[in-house]
Amino acid sequence: MPPKRRVVTSLITALLVAAMPVLASIYLAWMESYTMEKTLSLTYAQDVLRRIEATSSQFEEAQQKAAQAKVTPCSPDDMRLLHTIDFGASHIKATGRVAHDTLLCTSQGVMNPAALGKPDLTTAQGVTEYLNKQLSPPPARPLNVFASNGFAVLVDPNLAVSVSTEGPDVELAVLVPSAAQSGPIAVIGQNLPANWLEPVPQGGDSTFIDAGYLVSHIQSAKWDVAVVAATPQRYINDRMRHFALFFVPVGALCGVLLSFTVSLATRMHSSFPAMLRRAIKEKNFCVVYQPVVDLSTRRVIGAEALVRWRSDYAEIRPDYFIPQAEECGLIQLITKQVVTIVGRDLPQFLKLDPDFRVAINMSAADLCDEHTVEMLDGLLAASGALPKNIEVEATERAFLQGPGTASILDTIRSKGFTVAIDDFGTGYSSLACLQTLSLDTLKIDRAFVETINTDGATSQVVLHIIEMARSLHLDIVAEGVETEPQAQYLFKRGVLYAQGWHFGRPMDIAHLREGIRLSMESKLAAFIAEPTRTTVGDEPSSLLTFR
Ligand code: C2E
Ligand code: CA
Ligand code: CA
Repeated sequence: MPPKRRVVTSLITALLVAAMPVLASIYLAWMESYTMEKTLSLTYAQDVLRRIEATSSQFEEAQQKAAQAKVTPCSPDDMRLLHTIDFGASHIKATGRVAHDTLLCTSQGVMNPAALGKPDLTTAQGVTEYLNKQLSPPPARPLNVFASNGFAVLVDPNLAVSVSTEGPDVELAVLVPSAAQSGPIAVIGQNLPANWLEPVPQGGDSTFIDAGYLVSHIQSAKWDVAVVAATPQRYINDRMRHFALFFVPVGALCGVLLSFTVSLATRMHSSFPAMLRRAIKEKNFCVVYQPVVDLSTRRVIGAEALVRWRSDYAEIRPDYFIPQAEECGLIQLITKQVVTIVGRDLPQFLKLDPDFRVAINMSAADLCDEHTVEMLDGLLAASGALPKNIEVEATERAFLQGPGTASILDTIRSKGFTVAIDDFGTGYSSLACLQTLSLDTLKIDRAFVETINTDGATSQVVLHIIEMARSLHLDIVAEGVETEPQAQYLFKRGVLYAQGWHFGRPMDIAHLREGIRLSMESKLAAFIAEPTRTTVGDEPSSLLTFR
């Protein structure tokens, strides 16, 4: 990509990455405000509904009492009865008797019959409702009259809807769903649009935004009544602005940090080959050794050389840089440095144990190149080691990669070096494939060792791998042995060699020499790990303890 275009692309990417958390914080602020307003709006509706349900219960109870008492309507006995009922019902203003759309008397006294006119609606239960009837001269307020079987209650229409709200412009309406076409029986606010009054399931609710309002509609589970509460949408916007004051700066900060991290990671990634090249040039690689133990004697009989990149800031693990080194064709230069270091270290091991064997990891590119054989010869010349002291380790994928690999492997083995297949079981490894490869050792991958003594589905695989290796007369090294029961399980099933944290983490040459010496001195002594070591990155100095 031309440099100018790259700059523009990275600038746009950085802006987009920075904008994402800001947009997310705005969305979060809106959601938070919406949820709060929705809760408030539902609370208003529920408050009103609770009052109406209480009124309905009192009406039902009053009606039953009136029906049970066999008295002549509006007689002195009836007046006493109406008064008693009215007295015990807090949501009812008065009780009374009706006939032919006329209020004959109320619990407040016998009166001139008052014509109520045609009922405004009749509910599914047969209750006739006369709304906003001016029964006494002002300043008395109009009342709603609910009548059934000649008995009536008089209710203040404002009683149910006079709940305290967040602002003056919250609108409230009470509806009778079975007669919804007749409109609300009590209302605060302007005329509500018809779609707000559309029925919801009995006992259910719905909340939506329409015409600049957040509308909550709930219906009673027991009574033929529903309530609509509508809050102006600007309340959500006001609240959102309030939340945004907190969320947006946090989002902006996250955006800047994210953008910075992404651009740093991109820059690091794009300049990674350059960094690797510099590390190779400056020889910033070193090698640590992980002991390989003979499970029958518990002696350290060899070690695996594991490369480490010591950069200016940190120690970088091979899992991160080896795949990238392979990708950009630099792996052979790293292998060369590892081989040089091993050549320098080997004499120190051989002085302690002439049969000591160091395993060196190789990649596909190493196994395709004849120079690798020359490099191994050079290692012997530099260290005075014999081929039996060196093992070449590679994964099945590396073995099968290049066309010339087989002949190079044959040459390596014919010279007396041993060859091991690494991480066995993790790829598409199979018996058929093992038979075609020219090998001495099979390394069982840690993933299978860790299933030993567990109920995992793959816990039996380790037995099949051992069986395969034995049928092909291969030595077996179990990797990643972390516990004594794992070690004993493997030994009982014929695995002779093991490596893993139970015996020792990767360590520097001085500690490995000390480990070899102590394990030889104590001959059959167990070679066990320090209990304090817990993390993979931890390669402490006092790694080994001996019994
Ligand atoms: P590997 O060859 O399978 O090496 C074993 C890895 O498992 C090492 O990680 C080692 O520290 C870790 N290990 C050993 N015992 C235990 C244990 O008991 N439990 C756990 N959880 N882990 C354990 P490391 O050193 O980070 O190496 C990672 C991989 O990098 C190696 O896997 C190997 O594939 C590659 N590698 C290392 N050195 C070289 C090298 O010089 N050349 C090449 N081509 N690859 C290398
Ligand atoms: Ca290995
Ligand atoms: Ca391995």
